[in-house]
Order: sequence, then C-alpha cells, then structure tokens
Amino acid sequence: MDRIEQAIRRAKRNGQQVAVLTVSLDALEQLSDTLGSAVAEKFSRAMVARLRDRLRTTDTISMPEMEDGLGFSISRLGMEELVVLLTDLHNDDNVTDIIQRLFLKEEEPIEVDGNEVFTNTSVGVSVFPRDGDNVEALLGHANSALREARQQSGRNNFQFYAEDMQQHSKRRLRVETELHRAVKRDELVLHYQPKVDLMSGAIHSLEALVRWQHPEMGMVSPGEFIPLAEQTGIIEDISKWVLRRVCGQLRFWRESGFPEISVAVNLSPVEFRNQNLAADILGTLEEFALPTRMLEVEVTETVAMQHLDAAQAILRTLADAGVMISMDDFGTGYSSLSYLKHFPLHKLKIDRSFIMDVTEGPDGAAIVSAIMAMSHSLGLRVIAEGVETEEQLRFLQDLRCDEVQGYFLARPMPRDQVGDLLKEHTSIQQLVQAHGYGMGVAGEDGMDSMLPGMIGVLNDLPDR
Ligand code: C2E
Ligand code: CA
Ligand code: CA
Repeated sequence: MDRIEQAIRRAKRNGQQVAVLTVSLDALEQLSDTLGSAVAEKFSRAMVARLRDRLRTTDTISMPEMEDGLGFSISRLGMEELVVLLTDLHNDDNVTDIIQRLFLKEEEPIEVDGNEVFTNTSVGVSVFPRDGDNVEALLGHANSALREARQQSGRNNFQFYAEDMQQHSKRRLRVETELHRAVKRDELVLHYQPKVDLMSGAIHSLEALVRWQHPEMGMVSPGEFIPLAEQTGIIEDISKWVLRRVCGQLRFWRESGFPEISVAVNLSPVEFRNQNLAADILGTLEEFALPTRMLEVEVTETVAMQHLDAAQAILRTLADAGVMISMDDFGTGYSSLSYLKHFPLHKLKIDRSFIMDVTEGPDGAAIVSAIMAMSHSLGLRVIAEGVETEEQLRFLQDLRCDEVQGYFLARPMPRDQVGDLLKEHTSIQQLVQAHGYGMGVAGEDGMDSMLPGMIGVLNDLPDR
C-alpha cells in the first residue's frame, strides 16, 4: 500500500499514470488440494518469477516512449493473490500491451516437482487517475474488476475497472439479499407461454415461467435472478413454489371444465443434489390429485454433465410415473449425445439460438434439420423455442417439427389471460381468427400477450 501511495504521488508530479493489477492464481486451490501446499507454494513463487522476468524484458525497445523502462513491483497478498503495480505509464494502451505480455492466453505450463501445471489467472485492473486517486479506491476497484474477470469463461482473462461495474455489483447484491424474502413476501408471479402442436394447431401444453415483481425494482427477469438463486440455494424454495402454484392452477382449470392441458416446469441442475426430488414432485401431484401426465419437466444438458447418475435415477422415476421429460436448450451445452440414450427423454427442445439462424443462411438451417432428423429417428418429439417470424415457422413446419413456442405465436402471459385463451379457443387458429391481427402487443408493464400473424400460416395446416 505504501508503494502504491508513493507511486501515486510521483505520478501526480510527473503527469503520469499508475496501474494496479490484482491477480488471482485460480489454479492454486486445486493444486494445493491435489498435490499439497508445498507444491502450491512453489508454483506461486515460480509464477512470481515468471512475471518478474517478463516485466524486466518489457523494455524501452518494445515501448520506445517509456524512456526509463517500466517501473513495477509485485507483492503477494495471501496465498492465491498477487498485486502488481505498474508505474511511469504514459497511457492506457501501454497497460493493455503489458498485461497481454504478462498473461499470455496460450501459455506454457510451469513445471513444479515434475508436475506440469497450467496457469489460470484472472486479472483486475484499475488505473490512476481515471479510476481513483487513493490507494483504497484503486485496490477496491481493481478487485471489483477481478470479480468480473473471474466470471468470464476461458483461461487467463483480464478486465479493466469500469464505473458501471459498481452499479452492477450493487444491484447484484440487492437482488441477492432481497431474493431471500421474495417467496415469503409473495412477490413471485407465474406466467404461462403456450406451446402449439404443429400437426393440429392446438394448444396442448404451456410452459410456466417465473417472474419477480419487486415493489421498488419492478419486474426482475428470471435471467437475472435464477442464476443467483442457484448459487445461493434459494432455487429450491422457488421451485417448490412454482410447482405448487402450477398444480393449484391445473386443478382449478380441471375442476372448472377446461380442456385438458399439461404444464412444463423448469428444473435447475442444482436441484438434482436433492435425492428426494422425484418423490417430492410426485408427492405434490398426488396432493393436488392430478394425473402425472399433466406435468412436464424441462432439464438442460448441464444436468447430464454434472449429475449424471443422480439425474438418471430421478428422471427415470419421474418418467416411469408418467411425467414427461424434455431436454431444454438443446445444442448449447456439451452436446455429448451419449446421454440421450441414458435419459428417459420424450422431447428435445431446440435452443432459441439455432431457431434464430434458420433463415439466416444454409448452416443454420442444416443444423436444425439435422437435430430434427436425429430426434425423430430416436423416437423423440421435437419442439422449437423462440419462434419469432412466419418464415421460421414455415421452415419448421416443412421439417415436420412437432411443437413450436415463441413470440410469433404467443408471449408468456398471466394465468387469467391464458385461462381465457383456453376457455374460448382450443387452438391459436381460432384465437387469431376471432381477434384478428394486431391485438394485445406486449405492453411495457411486462404483461406479455398474444402477437398477431398466425392466420396465414395455420390456414395452410391440414384440418384434424
Ligand atoms: P428457458 O427455459 O429457455 O425459457 C424460455 C425463455 O425464452 C423465456 O424467458 C421466454 O420468455 C423466452 N422466450 C419465449 N419465446 C421467445 C421468443 O420468441 N423470443 C425471445 N427472444 N424469447 C422468447 P424468461 O421467462 O425470461 O426465462 C429465462 C430463463 O429463466 C428460462 O429460460 C429458464 O432457464 C429460467 N426460468 C424461468 N422460470 C423458471 C423457473 O420457474 N425455474 C427455473 N429453474 N428456471 C426458470
Ligand atoms: Ca424452459
Ligand atoms: Ca430454453
């Protein structure tokens, strides 16, 4: 800290810049667990030596504007963290260059006691005067940037501090703390998005999608809070709430004489740590006296990657009991196809990113038709998510896709709205004919609703 302070004073006098790099050696913990702390210590020293060498040779030849060479110092801050201080800098570009030299993307492993250890560093950077004019601010901001860098995928990432990063981490903290209370305070809301059977044009099932209506923050999207809920374990409470809400709704529709419909719920990979997951789900269905065929669960490929054995058993129990199983976001994970035969799947849901591409050129179309052909030959139904245009729908129809879901057909909507839809119309075809084009385009309050556009396409469908 003393050195950073001196560097700031000198830089002020000379009109120069100072960069503070916090470096985390992400390989270290695992190394320490597997090969012991003595090896980890050696690795850490070797890493410091490597950085020091590289800093020394970052000389006046490669950076002519740096007349006296680069001023630097490296300190260790605990076992896994280093702080590198760069002084006498003239501009930001220098910093980026230097970091790229220091932490190469593709790096030779370091040899310690006959073991080859690959480096994996994350680096956060703050620069005086732009990001702060005192030690605490510079170190704190370098640390925020480091947290961002650690979230990135791949090895050896670095990240400069940016002011909005602080807004971002404040919001994150708030979402995280308030999420604990969201379930208790009854702030969660369920929306339902219809899935349309392409053979008949009928709506046989819905997907339940959770929203969080926060009293001050407004609608928080599941894309933002579900990952946090997974990290903190709150996902289990949310998921239970979703299932009970869905079951209550299904019972209500059933008792009120609506046509039979099934609802899909999303399960997070982390929920598969609960060995009673299948029993819990089946127990809830029983409590609401619902036939198991009315429930569908959507799981992602991550489940197969992380919890193969547990997931196999849980899904097998559910499938044997009559619950439908869908593989969600298909094609985005590791897509090692071997799990397909280990899992009792009924449906593959092709990820939205592929559907987006089907009308953008031959490759996108080829991928989707290949997935479709493979699924059908495995006896699986195929559902396409994120259908946004008529062109996409026609393409999917030609390929004999079984079901479609997306804004072009219907947005996720509150239960009353979907209830009206089910009561009045058994198919989107009728719905669109009844209401015509242009009804209920999504409003800004997050109330999603029907989009126009289905008439032409569904009129081409065979009558069944
Ligand atoms: P997902 O399971 O892939 O759900 C589909 C997402 O795509 C939903 O976003 C839906 O609103 C959106 N979507 C549907 N059609 C279209 C379209 O045509 N275009 C575009 N651009 N988007 C479309 P949403 O509701 O924001 O949910 C995001 C993700 O959050 C879900 O992705 C799911 O992974 C997760 N999620 C939502 N509800 C739950 C839940 O109850 N439990 C769990 N574990 N995860 C949930
Ligand atoms: Ca889903
Ligand atoms: Ca999906």
